[in-house]
Amino acid sequence: MALRTSSLETLSSDLEGRLISPTDDDYDAQRQVFLGDFDKRPAAIARVANADDVARVIGFASDTGVELAVRCGGHSAMGQSTTDGGLVLDLRDLTTIDIDPETKTAWAGAGLSAVELTKATGEHGLAVGFGDTGSVGISGITLGGGIGYMVRKHGLTVDSLLAAELVTADGELHHLDADHDPDLFWAIRGGGGNFGVVTRLKYQLHDTSGAVGGILILPATVETVTGFIAAAESAPEELSAIANVMPLPPMPMVPEDLHGTMAIMAIMVHLGDVAAGEAAVAPFKALATPLFDGVGPMAYADIYPPEDPSYRPMPAQRGMFLDHVDRAVAQTILDRLEASDASLRAAQLRVLGGAMARVPADATAFGYRDRRILVQLVNFYDGTPEDYAHRRAWVDEFADAVDQGVEGAYVNFVTIEGPRAAYPKATWERLAAIKQRYDPTNLFRLNQNVPPAGDDGGGPSPALSRLER
Ligand SMILES: Cc1cc2nc3c(=O)[nH]c(=O)nc-3n(C[C@H](O)[C@H](O)[C@H](O)COP(=O)(O)OP(=O)(O)OC[C@H]3O[C@@H](n4cnc5c(N)ncnc54)[C@H](O)[C@@H]3O)c2cc1C
Repeated sequence: MALRTSSLETLSSDLEGRLISPTDDDYDAQRQVFLGDFDKRPAAIARVANADDVARVIGFASDTGVELAVRCGGHSAMGQSTTDGGLVLDLRDLTTIDIDPETKTAWAGAGLSAVELTKATGEHGLAVGFGDTGSVGISGITLGGGIGYMVRKHGLTVDSLLAAELVTADGELHHLDADHDPDLFWAIRGGGGNFGVVTRLKYQLHDTSGAVGGILILPATVETVTGFIAAAESAPEELSAIANVMPLPPMPMVPEDLHGTMAIMAIMVHLGDVAAGEAAVAPFKALATPLFDGVGPMAYADIYPPEDPSYRPMPAQRGMFLDHVDRAVAQTILDRLEASDASLRAAQLRVLGGAMARVPADATAFGYRDRRILVQLVNFYDGTPEDYAHRRAWVDEFADAVDQGVEGAYVNFVTIEGPRAAYPKATWERLAAIKQRYDPTNLFRLNQNVPPAGDDGGGPSPALSRLER
């Protein structure tokens, strides 16, 4: 649907925030999202200033039928926070932070990144767990679940979500918590951006004094990969780890002759007292002589190092759950990684369980809480269709080789599987019924889409990259 300039001018004058159009000097910078292969050209980008602006943009999209993309941190694996020819509702100016150290809670604007909120709460020795990358938006990660360095101790990010404010398709602002609009509150805790636009989120914060963590790099062999997973499974719940098995990138802290050799690049955090933390990380350090050992007492907020804002990776990727990583699986992982020459290739492994698994399955819309291990396979391509096809095939063959038939997927990592893979049948049907109630026309469809109940089509077909549209 092409937008008339006059209607965009009207929207612009109605907004307290700013409407950016292709003639603006900063249009190219503003339209960029994290992944380099979603190079789309929206008709306009609305940098909203408050919830009223959000309602105005939603009303405009509803009236005109223009495709609406909702953007926080811009890290969608499917490029779903931008659009060709449509309207981007950009939340990045909603950055207020209101921390109450007494109750250990924080209201956070929906446009913040994980690192921005983590640094702010870190001033009080407190934090809520997001993922492994600071530039990921708090909204996108929270609405899909959120799996990071607190997952075993405090559960998913949604398990620390106490309340939220949400503007629905009819423009109404809802205050959601356990007692108000409980259906919507259930749905946004795992159901993504299907139900409206979140403008503020209230989190329970957790004490981070005594944190022990950081980067541990080990040589990757069958023994260290299986040993790492075994250590993570038997570690106290206070410890959560993310292990990237990959050829070592040129990192200054590792001698040059080791660059390119197969390594486990792990980041782990133990939350508790320092002595318990040192004891919990010791089994990992004992797996082999570390190539780099940066694990020790830390300020939790330092888990997010500075990032290069010009970094625009182009990955073919696939995620799945595993039951176990035995010697055969570890060997397959190493062989497949060795067999590729992609500029970056990795198998990222996360042992789950603990607090995440204790929350009842139907308490939130997140699917598959009892899964044991999450793996994400990644292979970067160079932007050409030929290379994409080649890297895609590598990822798919790798996925087939390690597939243990474990049902489910993590919605924030979903690509070709489609969103339905992320939810058990009963969860999917409940989400669809709530969608039917609050967004019957599927206005919010540029996301991991749950079509309204009774709508068989609905939602965009999975476009993996600009090369597959
Ligand atoms: C490098 C990288 C590392 C990652 N690491 C982790 C990790 O460790 N753990 C983990 O759990 N996930 C991780 N993810 C996945 C990440 O959680 C999802 O991609 C998430 O959707 C990104 O959120 P965003 O706000 O940055 O993205 P955006 O692209 O801005 O948003 C993604 C989608 O969320 C919805 N949305 C965003 N904001 C709102 C809002 N306020 N209201 C309604 N809907 C909204 C929209 O549908 C949008 O399309 C990672 C992704 C990347 C690229």
